[in-house]
Amino acid sequence: MVSLYTRERGLVEAVAQGIGKPGSSLAPAVELFTHSKLHLVEARGADRLTQARVIEPFYALRRDMTRYGYAAVACELIVRTTETGQVVLGLFEMLVSYLHAMQTTAQPRVLSWAFELAWLELGGIGPVIDRCPRCGRDTLGGSYVASHGGALCPDCASGEPSAFELSPGAARTIEAMRRFDPDAIERLRLTEPTCRQVQRLIRDHIRYHLDLNLRSEQFVESLGRWRRPQGRSRDGGEGGAGGAADDE
Ligand SMILES: [Zn+2]
Repeated sequence: MVSLYTRERGLVEAVAQGIGKPGSSLAPAVELFTHSKLHLVEARGADRLTQARVIEPFYALRRDMTRYGYAAVACELIVRTTETGQVVLGLFEMLVSYLHAMQTTAQPRVLSWAFELAWLELGGIGPVIDRCPRCGRDTLGGSYVASHGGALCPDCASGEPSAFELSPGAARTIEAMRRFDPDAIERLRLTEPTCRQVQRLIRDHIRYHLDLNLRSEQFVESLGRWRRPQGRSRDGGEGGAGGAADDE
């Protein structure tokens, strides 16, 4: 069985017979993070992969453990939050564009945060950071409280023990990131305090609203503890999810 994310049918679990055998014509098309054109046939209640053609193998993601890890973050997020057959409009295109950009970006971590934010937006559960989620007053940033889904104004925030301050600058950065334009994201320069706020907001938001801790994100962040300065290393480690695929 392979897990595929398709444009037309969302997440699909399909039988791919013989992909473990040498010379299988299907195997390259279902490699991790591979964009492919697939032909699926339904037989006895299961999808069976019968033909496949690789469109883009994204080799660069398999040669660099950091990029590999961040590619896995997006795939894990999709696999763990999407029901089989559930189509989220625009998600397939966003995933392909993410994998393309991840091959060359100088800021893989920022790109991955942008994907997570944009994914929350697509799902209609993005953090509210331009108005107070309790009283509706216009704000930019404020005291972020996960249970309120966003950043509260000073009046509403008093007495909220779990709040942390989201600066107007960090809020503007989040607005820019969640539109998910990889070229614009590449031009963003985040200060260290902004990085800390953005990272904490995303983690708290995903944990509270989706009850998720992304294993691939923990893995890729643990790499920083022993990675060589150049950031290049052999392929390996654990990944999150199956490839992206067109479905005929
Ligand atoms: Zn308020």
